[in-house]
Amino acid sequence: MDRLAIVVPCYNEEEVLQIASKALREVLDGLVKKGKIGADSFILFVNDGSKDRTWELIEAEHAAYPAQVFGVKLAGNVGHQFALTAGLITAKDLSDVTISIDADLQDDVNVIEEMIDKFHAGNDIVYGVRKERKTDTFFKRTTAQGFYKVMELMGVKTVYNHADFRLMSKRAVEQFSKYKETNLFLRGMVPLIGYQTDCVYYDRLERVAGESKYPLKKMLALAFNGISSFSVKPISMILGVGIFIVIASVLAAVYALISFFTGHVVPGWTSLILSIWFLGGLQLLAIGLVGQYIGKIYIEVKQRPRYNIEKVLTNEEA
Ligand code: UDP
Ligand code: MG
Repeated sequence: MDRLAIVVPCYNEEEVLQIASKALREVLDGLVKKGKIGADSFILFVNDGSKDRTWELIEAEHAAYPAQVFGVKLAGNVGHQFALTAGLITAKDLSDVTISIDADLQDDVNVIEEMIDKFHAGNDIVYGVRKERKTDTFFKRTTAQGFYKVMELMGVKTVYNHADFRLMSKRAVEQFSKYKETNLFLRGMVPLIGYQTDCVYYDRLERVAGESKYPLKKMLALAFNGISSFSVKPISMILGVGIFIVIASVLAAVYALISFFTGHVVPGWTSLILSIWFLGGLQLLAIGLVGQYIGKIYIEVKQRPRYNIEKVLTNEEA
């Protein structure tokens, strides 16, 4: 039977920790009873340098349910994406399949069973996708949707309306762990893994207790990090603008010369205006060109795996 690890990053979640632990234990028990996962499945809480009693509560839960509740304590607050990565990589050595979920139970724990079913149907990655955002504020909803649109425009492949609630098989996490980059953006990285994937749909619920640990500032940082870690399009845009302005400067030159010969201009205007347009365009063009190389260097230094083999068919015994 497959051993499931549910990975839960927690930052100052003392209000929800016990509720989350109970809800997730019930899910595990239910799945074990149905024979869908091994009895040795567990929950792994990752304490992301919480300043409140989160870690004490994790310890207490572990003491009460030593076989079902595990914990990892990070040495300081490193942020959701890193905490999640730490949890997944720790869990992969102890389990066959992982599911990541937020501590606040905004993601519906009842679709975990469906995720497991899809895993057994041969999917290595199963995304939890929100159906609607009824419970989110108008502000959160529009900013989040704007975010997915911008990502798409920038050519970053993400799954629409999917946050970090997802199932990953052991080998998917294994492959993920080969992405050594420090600017983590899991929602962009996981689709790069490329194994067979599927989605489950659920309604996003309200936070059980406590408040969002993602204020606007952190959200903007996540969005900018997502774009700048995955796309060199902004650099190409500079190059594009540069080319456009150089072309426009030719038109400006025609206009300036006509004005010059029809004699409607102050002396010196023609040469000035021509220099401004042409040099401005040339500078942007040059910056864009240099940027292309920087973009390449950026992609190279990430040293991402160049491919990921899913299956091999040969006549040799594996
Ligand atoms: N979180 C974390 N480290 C941080 C911020 C958040 O581990 O620095 C965790 C948090 O405990 C929660 C998850 O990330 O389990 C998502 O945070 P939250 O629910 O506050 O975000 P929202 O749902 O409001 O976007
Ligand atoms: Mg939340």
